[in-house]
Amino acid sequence: MSKTLFEKICDLEIPSDIVYEDEYCVAFKDINPQAPFHVQLVPRKPITMLASASPEDPALLGQLLLTAPTIAATAGFEEAFRIATKNADAAGQSVFNMHLHKTGRASGRERGGK
Ligand code: AMP
Repeated sequence: MSKTLFEKICDLEIPSDIVYEDEYCVAFKDINPQAPFHVQLVPRKPITMLASASPEDPALLGQLLLTAPTIAATAGFEEAFRIATKNADAAGQSVFNMHLHKTGRASGRERGGK
């Protein structure tokens, strides 16, 4: 099966602005941000959508959520942020590789504060 756009980004076959990566996931800036900070948090294991996750995946899904605050600190997000995912095209999903939208405001440091 051919790779999805986000698999290609995770495999560095398509350029992106990666803000965080580890053995479980990659986070990169959204190409069309809907907030001052908007990143896509994508598991390295391809999962089509949340409802496609298998009984083997709870640890991976938990890891994604635990990673979100780390990204906040390293990518210049304020502590306050939102996480969202779309499940299926009827919900607006356009990239069929499960991902978490993480949106928020720039931290004081990013805005030029201390
Ligand atoms: P969704 O509609 O939930 O499937 O989200 C797909 C997201 O991927 C949208 O917010 C797009 O702006 C974003 N996107 C599409 N192509 C790229 C790309 N090459 N690099 C970064 N983000 C992208």
